[in-house]
Amino acid sequence: MKILRTLAKYLWLKDNLEFRLRVLLSLGLLVGAKVINVQVPFLFKLAVDWLSTATGSVSALASFTESNATLLALFGSPAAVLLGYGIARTGASACNELRNAVFSKVALRTIRVVSRKVFSHLHELDLRYHLNRQTGALSRIIDRGSRAINFILSSMVFNVAPTILEIAMVSGILAYKFGATFAWITSVSVAAYIAFTLIVTQWRTKFRQAMNKADNDASTRAIDSLLNYETVKYFTNEPYEVAKYDTYLKRYEDAALKTQSSLAFLNFGQNIIFSTALSAAMILSSYGIMSGAMTVGDLVMVNGLLFQLSLPLNFLGSVYRETRQSLIDMKSMFQLLEEEPEIKDAPNAKPLHFKGGTIEFKNVHFGYLSDRKILDGVSFVVPAGTSTAIVGTSGSGKSTILRMLYRFFDSDSGSIFVDGQDIREVTLKSLRECIGVVPQDTVLFNDTIFHNIHYGRLSATEEEVYDAARRAAIHETILNFPEKYSTVVGERGLKLSGGEKQRVSLARAFLKAPSILLCDEATSSLDSTTEAEILSALKNLSNNRTSIFIAHRLTTAMQCNEIIVLENGKVAERGPHDVLLSRAGRYAQLWAQQNNNDASDAAVKVEA
Ligand code: ADP
Ligand code: MG
Repeated sequence: MKILRTLAKYLWLKDNLEFRLRVLLSLGLLVGAKVINVQVPFLFKLAVDWLSTATGSVSALASFTESNATLLALFGSPAAVLLGYGIARTGASACNELRNAVFSKVALRTIRVVSRKVFSHLHELDLRYHLNRQTGALSRIIDRGSRAINFILSSMVFNVAPTILEIAMVSGILAYKFGATFAWITSVSVAAYIAFTLIVTQWRTKFRQAMNKADNDASTRAIDSLLNYETVKYFTNEPYEVAKYDTYLKRYEDAALKTQSSLAFLNFGQNIIFSTALSAAMILSSYGIMSGAMTVGDLVMVNGLLFQLSLPLNFLGSVYRETRQSLIDMKSMFQLLEEEPEIKDAPNAKPLHFKGGTIEFKNVHFGYLSDRKILDGVSFVVPAGTSTAIVGTSGSGKSTILRMLYRFFDSDSGSIFVDGQDIREVTLKSLRECIGVVPQDTVLFNDTIFHNIHYGRLSATEEEVYDAARRAAIHETILNFPEKYSTVVGERGLKLSGGEKQRVSLARAFLKAPSILLCDEATSSLDSTTEAEILSALKNLSNNRTSIFIAHRLTTAMQCNEIIVLENGKVAERGPHDVLLSRAGRYAQLWAQQNNNDASDAAVKVEA
């Protein structure tokens, strides 16, 4: 009920008169279609009665009631009645189609509004949420959710409700014209029919679920296998992959078989109930005809009414099942909307007042999980306009520091300040706008290389994009591609080499020209010639900008104003390169190690 109410809220758009009128009009057309539809067998009966009277084959004249006589006077001839029959059929269909046309705009707009809202909400949720979600699961939820809305609107509103209306009308007519017995036959058989359908459908649900699950598993398995194409080849495990895929296919086959045979049972059972009711009603009619209380036309009409009723009822089982599924799908989608981001603007957040970009970490403690600390009281200051390098072993929390500065995560205790303002008290937008990040792993949009660089500042001109590419030392490389800047980079940028991706990411940063620059191992995938080139460009960019470099190679770190050595979640050492070297501490140790490695690398090469 709550789900339906939420849906109705979206449907009944407050400020849109047109949409409200459309909803009302389609409801009107719906009732109209059913009312006309019920007239069809009635007109048919009239024609049959008239014809049988005219040919004298049945002495039904006696049972011609006064109301029939007036109607006959109205139409004038049997041909006119049959024409009316055709018109009524067409009219009912016209109402139905018109209703669809009128309503579909409302339904489609509702789907659009809800999908857009969910999508924008997903972007509002924080990184922690996105790291924990399952790839593809979200898009499936949105997908299924919008389909569910469509289904509920088209079938709940336009199938279930009208069918109930029709049952009521048919029973009413039968009771009024031929007495309570007919109404009883109709209601009881419809009730039995519905009960049988719901029970059997309920029982079939588990086959259906197993079938869907097998289907999902099979496709997940196939996708995963194909994504790992290269790995499969490296270990020549194709037969294994095929066999594994086939087990899921077999499961699907079994489940689908059960689904189909149980459907046959359902259909047959429904038919038995209905045919019984139909026969009973007709036998009753035949007694009526023989006793002169009813006409042949009445028999035809009873048959027609019941038969028309059976059409929407046929879909009852699938409508019931799909409705339940749709409600579940809609629930998961609306639940997404209720998910609250942990990281959001404080109620009284003000825009960041930028004054040069002094960054200060004050006794920051943080762990992704409560039982494992990554940062354990980190404090340091990066004065405005200077550069700082962070070094430390892999996994020591270097990238974490940048993520916290960007407010992807908030500290457990301690504070981070930019120009003396706690970053939790300024708006996220103003904070993030002044920070440029070159991340450790660059992921690119599956679009042209031009678009991917342009993304750094969507308002930039074409020339500015080329210029940024030049500064990131990738312009020439791109010009060597056959399609130049229109080269499509493939999913997640997989068609570019690691170094090329990294340079695209640098070009983005150059284009954004942020007030504060954060580089997370920005040159780790580059050869030393390109690295030297980029470092000088980066140095240019970081000139008079507050910047933090996470550097794997200490030659990069060495160029910064200050170096922070991170160890066990604490700042172990800090100071300029020369000072740290002379202190003969942890940094000096790292430095010696790296130089040694380089030296022995060189030695190995010489020996070879
Ligand atoms: P690095 O210093 O190499 O950049 P990181 O700051 O990326 O290291 O990560 C520090 C530690 O935190 C690593 O041990 C990593 O496994 C862990 N970690 C990183 N991200 C998460 C996460 N989202 N959830 C749990 N642990 C994480
Ligand atoms: Mg890292």
